[in-house]
Amino acid sequence: MQAKLNVIPFVSVDHMMKLVLEIGVERFVKELATYIEEDFRRWESFDKTPRVASHSTDGVIELMPTSDGETYGFKYVNGHPQNTRFGRQTVTAFGVLADVGSGYPVLLTEMTILTALRTAVMSAVAAKYLAPKGARTMAMIGNGAQSEFQAIAFKEILGIDRLRIYDIDPSATARCKKNLEGLGFNITACASTEQAVEGANIVTTVTADKQYATILTDNMVGPGIHINAIGGDCPGKTELHRDILLRSDIFVEYTPQTRIEGEIQQLDSDHPVVELWQVIAGKAYGRTAEHQITLFDSVGFAIEDFSAMRYVRDRLEETGLFEELDLLADPDEPRDLFGMILRAAKPASANVEGFKVSPFGHNVSSQVSIDQ
Ligand code: NAD
Repeated sequence: MQAKLNVIPFVSVDHMMKLVLEIGVERFVKELATYIEEDFRRWESFDKTPRVASHSTDGVIELMPTSDGETYGFKYVNGHPQNTRFGRQTVTAFGVLADVGSGYPVLLTEMTILTALRTAVMSAVAAKYLAPKGARTMAMIGNGAQSEFQAIAFKEILGIDRLRIYDIDPSATARCKKNLEGLGFNITACASTEQAVEGANIVTTVTADKQYATILTDNMVGPGIHINAIGGDCPGKTELHRDILLRSDIFVEYTPQTRIEGEIQQLDSDHPVVELWQVIAGKAYGRTAEHQITLFDSVGFAIEDFSAMRYVRDRLEETGLFEELDLLADPDEPRDLFGMILRAAKPASANVEGFKVSPFGHNVSSQVSIDQ
């Protein structure tokens, strides 16, 4: 796709929205699920490291790198729960794929929308292996930016068509309900978490608060439930009461990262967990009994972003939904980087008599200017 080495495809927010609309969000989540499952099956071929986090009072900024030996990827992502009060997103992101052989980037893309899609798809893929058979009803606690994406992925991948939704902010619940109208859901807006979880086969917690919160207490979780815990994803930021964890079989993405960031930060560091890739690859069991409580302790891992960017990159040629970004300085003679700047300078005559314009735009006297 790349005509020139220095020009890389850039997927803007506008192009990402068009991509989702052109492909169709339903097809998008289903196809993305196959990319994630494919990459989870070859988990062992990836470089893995807990993400690099920079914490502050109000939030966190994280870098999430991985590589499969041919392609390198990283995502920049933040999490700032107070942001929505000031008209900003809690989570924003962008990402890069690069060719391992040359080190040259091959894709730069917005990832705020893509993160919501990949998080939802990851949750639904996990639920495919962990949720009780025939599950149709999901409670969703927290009706913010991620929520509709979660609902749609669960519908497409699992067949969830009944939603019971709750948010401490009723306007968030109303917006979520309205946005999902006409997409084939039967939606009940609930007045409390207790009410929302009644009769649900799956409970998704997707709230944002930079503290140890207790969105679900032990008494709310009956046998046979699958919990999809999304919002506890930083040190000191959890959503479930510890007692729930002690009754659950816990599934994680990458254990070393989840021990730091997930719900299991509340448990001893040797508490048994199963990595989801093992279930997907057929090396470990998912749900084995009807009464079992399963918990997907989701924090988001770099390989999911890698899969999502791989999916987007594979759709660009057919859709043309990208622009070419002049990102890399790439002189004809690779070692003549400075010469490239000189050649780009305007002719020296285009300025006030007695002065020349340096390649850097400053006025300099003719004696010290660079002669071209
Ligand atoms: P958001 O700020 O848009 O929405 C969060 C919603 O939670 C808000 O509407 C808020 O009113 C509600 N809320 C807060 N406390 C609540 C409570 N006690 N009960 C019910 N509702 C409550 O945030 P978002 O972008 O939707 O993200 C939600 C969470 O998901 C964040 O914590 C974010 O860090 C996390 N997240 C996780 C992953 C992952 O891979 N695991 C990926 C993306 C986001």
